[in-house]
Amino acid sequence: MRTLLLKSLFSRAVTVPAPRADMPVPAGEDAILTELGRALEMRARRLFGRSITIREIDAGSCNGCELEIHALNNAVYDVERFGIKFAASPRHADVLLVTGPVTKNMREALERTWNATPDPKWVVALGDCALDGGCFAGSYAVVGGVSAVVPVDLHIPGCPPAPMAILRGLLALFEARAKQGPA
Ligand code: SF4
Repeated sequence: MRTLLLKSLFSRAVTVPAPRADMPVPAGEDAILTELGRALEMRARRLFGRSITIREIDAGSCNGCELEIHALNNAVYDVERFGIKFAASPRHADVLLVTGPVTKNMREALERTWNATPDPKWVVALGDCALDGGCFAGSYAVVGGVSAVVPVDLHIPGCPPAPMAILRGLLALFEARAKQGPA
């Protein structure tokens, strides 16, 4: 116990330093974000005649992917200004954004959420684990990737994917959907 106390007293913090409060978002990145967000908003309005609603489902993730999804709603990304909303109920959702490998405990919840989402609906598997179980593949607690349980329309790779990659993925989904004709 004494060793542990001494170690923690003389160890440096393992976290990275917080960004300075006066540090602005890089101008280039902000412009790309605005362009991406506007493109998504325009495409969604053409497809649905309104904004889009996403229901996020954590099917067994380590929560790294969730941190990036949460960032979409922070003061930097603030995607609601582009008409992208997150809903608590699948009954209000157009897109199911599923993270993590699907664990055996979450399999039924994922199936029931998919069944409760009205058509037309799209499933986006987010992160490397959502593809095939990722680093959790083979675990006794894991069924597999998202497509092992529900049909997947798009996979966004990364561990975890950054917010901009999530927005690019959603845009690619809507572009592909637009080519198929009106919803
Ligand atoms: S892809 Fe990476 S961050 Fe996302 S759930 Fe898997 S291990 Fe966690």
